[in-house]
Amino acid sequence: MNVARSNTAIGTTATAEPAKVYRGRFAPSPSGRLHSGSLLAALGSYLDARHHGGRWLIRIEDLDTPRNLPGLAGDILQTLARLGLESDEAPLYQSSRHAAYQQALAHLQAEGLTYPCSCTRSQAGPGIYGGHCRSSPSGPPPYALRLRQADERIVAFVDRFAGLQQQAWVQLGDPILRRRDGLIAYQLAVVVDDDYQGITDIVRGSDLLDSTAWQLALIDALQQPVPRYAHLPLLLAADGSKLSKSRSAAAVAEQPPATVLVDTLTYLQQEPPAELYRASVSEILAWGIAHWQPERLRGLTTLTEKGPA
Ligand code: GLU
Ligand code: ZN
Repeated sequence: MNVARSNTAIGTTATAEPAKVYRGRFAPSPSGRLHSGSLLAALGSYLDARHHGGRWLIRIEDLDTPRNLPGLAGDILQTLARLGLESDEAPLYQSSRHAAYQQALAHLQAEGLTYPCSCTRSQAGPGIYGGHCRSSPSGPPPYALRLRQADERIVAFVDRFAGLQQQAWVQLGDPILRRRDGLIAYQLAVVVDDDYQGITDIVRGSDLLDSTAWQLALIDALQQPVPRYAHLPLLLAADGSKLSKSRSAAAVAEQPPATVLVDTLTYLQQEPPAELYRASVSEILAWGIAHWQPERLRGLTTLTEKGPA
């Protein structure tokens, strides 16, 4: 399944095990414009990939079609390009990947790892636990499909920034893989696509830290290689409150690219020198790549935006 990996290895011979060349990605959903929180993940994943001599890809997660706004994918790609953040390969659109998701679902079904669930959100109770349909659906179709795992299962991994993470399946609950309306769930699509694109390193926002255990269970069930994870601390507004996504998206769109990039380097704890505000986009990125010190993010749970100057 890792078709994209082998042709990027440099200097390998036919007999040697191909070197695991770093492949990172940024995977925005076109349900809103790029804001300073999403930009943190974009720049963090880009700098980490480049610092490791790796490739960096953009994937448009446009599966949740009712929530996707027309023209937004183009807007996101354009905003990224203005900041010098361009995908090394043509962006992958999840809306073009349905056959691959169906194939993965069929594999999980054949392994007995899925079950139909007819619960509405309120019947399923808090969270997404679907345990009461495990032996048979408690109501009529249409059914969602959930992933089945043993309750005793503990999923553990070491995150490069957040450290050791451990979660018990009984607390996680069985995630939905295909919704009642037929839409493929993010948890399945992300795992299938990270494998397809040969992603070795996932750098993304810590809002997805809790989803990682579900994704690792799926990676295991689909017998895929396990990527490294690095979840960035949550970016808060200057006064410590939650970011206003629309306000911060306007700021990303309206400010000069150098300001946006150097501010984001500051939030990422990289301490860029003030003269970088007068540098070009490519000079700023080159500085960021050369000076990237991801260990400065280790153990932090939040980052704070700059206040008004
Ligand atoms: N599409 C997801 C989001 O925008 C990110 C997926 C990921 O990085 O794994 O929240
Ligand atoms: Zn159910």
